[in-house]
Amino acid sequence: MDYFLSDEEKMMVELARKIAQEKIKPVREHYDETEEFPWPIVHDLAKADLCGAYIPEQYGGFGGKVFNLVLVVEELCKVDGGISLALAATALGTFPILIAGSEEQKKKYLPDIAAGRKLAAFGLTEPEAGSDATAMRTTAKKEGDFYVLNGTKCFITNAGEAETYTVFAKTNPERGPRGISCFIVEKGTPGFEFGKKEKKMGIRASVTRELIFNNCMIPKENLLGKEGHGLMVAQATLDTSRPGVAAQALGIAAGALEEAISYARTRVQFGQSISSFQAIQHMLADMATEVEAARCLLYQTARMMDANPGKRTTKESAMSKLYCSEVAMRVTTNAVQILGGYGYIREYPVEKMMRDAKITQIYEGTSQIQRNEIALQLIKESAAKK
Ligand SMILES: Cc1cc2nc3c(=O)[nH]c(=O)nc-3n(C[C@H](O)[C@H](O)[C@H](O)COP(=O)(O)OP(=O)(O)OC[C@H]3O[C@@H](n4cnc5c(N)ncnc54)[C@H](O)[C@@H]3O)c2cc1C
Repeated sequence: MDYFLSDEEKMMVELARKIAQEKIKPVREHYDETEEFPWPIVHDLAKADLCGAYIPEQYGGFGGKVFNLVLVVEELCKVDGGISLALAATALGTFPILIAGSEEQKKKYLPDIAAGRKLAAFGLTEPEAGSDATAMRTTAKKEGDFYVLNGTKCFITNAGEAETYTVFAKTNPERGPRGISCFIVEKGTPGFEFGKKEKKMGIRASVTRELIFNNCMIPKENLLGKEGHGLMVAQATLDTSRPGVAAQALGIAAGALEEAISYARTRVQFGQSISSFQAIQHMLADMATEVEAARCLLYQTARMMDANPGKRTTKESAMSKLYCSEVAMRVTTNAVQILGGYGYIREYPVEKMMRDAKITQIYEGTSQIQRNEIALQLIKESAAKK
C-alpha cells in the first residue's frame, strides 16, 4: 500500500529503520532479559534527531506532527516494542506542555526534550485510580508561591530516568473532576522520590515505577494551564498520545508478520515448506490484511489530527488505539502459532512480540475504555444532528 509519504517523512522512516536494524535488533534480547534502561539507544535516537519528531521546530523539534511520531514509533517497534517506549512515553509526558504550557514553559522544557538530552514522563495513574482517574488522591495545596504535593502515582513509564514529569493532583478535592490540576515536576525536587520498580510480562526494556510525593514543594509557575483544568489537559493529552500506542501496536504486529512469513517459507514438514499449506497461507493472509487495515486507520487519524491542530479527535484516536492493539494481539498470537514450538522459545523473537503486544490493550486506557469513549462520541454526534 502506498501512503504517499513526503520526502521528509520517508527520510524519518529510513533513519528509524537504520537504528532499529543496526542498533536495536542486536541488543533487544539483552534488554528484555536484564531489564536495563536502554540509554545507548536513546543517545542514538538523539543523534539522529528523532527525539523531537513531534515537537515544533521553534522548540528544536522536527515539525510538531503526530504523524511523525507515529512513523518513527512504528518503525522502531517492528524490531522491539519496549526500547522505543523511552521516546513514546516521553511524548506522552510532553504533550501536556505542548497542549497547556505557556510560551515560557515551552521554551524552558521543550528544547532539552527535543534534543534527547532529557526524557519526560506522565503521572496520572494511582493505586486506586486507573481507568477512573478522577478517583486520584494526590493533592496539591497552594501555600504562598508554592504548591505542596502529597501522594503516590503508580505504573509510571520512564520514572526515575526522566528529568521532567507532568503530574496530576487535586488542588480542590471538593470540586471532583473540576478540582484536578496539572503540574511540571522536575527530578531532584526535595520531597519527590521514586518507589518500587515493577517486574513486567513484556516491554521489559521500559522502566515502570512509582512517583512518591512527600510535602514536595513546587513553584507556582509550574502549574500547567489553569487550576482545575487538569482533567481536560489529561483527556486532550490522551487523545493526542493514543496514536503513539497504536503505532507501537502496529509496529509490533508488522514485525511479527514479517517473522512469520520468513519462517513459513523456510520451515519444512511433510517434505514441503509449511508456507504451501493453505491453513498457514490463510493465517498469513488474514494477518497481513489486518495489519494494513490498522495502518490505514492510524495514518488517516494522525494526518487528520495534524491538519486540524487543537480540534479534539477523541473518537478516531480511540478507534486507532483499540483496533491496532487488538490486531497486534491477534497477529502476534498467530505468529507464535506459525512458528510452532519454536515460536514459544526465547531464541525466536515472536514470543517477546506477543508479550510486548499485550500492554497496548491496557495502558493509556484499556480496550474497554476505548470502546466506552467511541460509543459516547457516537451518541453525542447523533444527538447533535437532531
Ligand atoms: C507497563 C505499564 C505502564 C504504564 N504507564 C503509565 C504511565 O506512564 N502513566 C500513567 O499515568 N499510567 C501508566 N500506566 C497505567 C495504565 O494506564 C493503567 O494501568 C490503565 O489505565 C488501567 O488502569 P488499572 O490498571 O487501574 O485497571 P482498572 O481501571 O482497575 O481496570 C480493571 C479492568 O476493569 C475494566 N474497567 C474499568 N472501568 C471500566 C468501565 N467503566 N467499563 C468497562 N470496563 C472497565 C478495565 O478495562 C480492566 O479490564 C501504565 C501501566 C502499565 C501496566
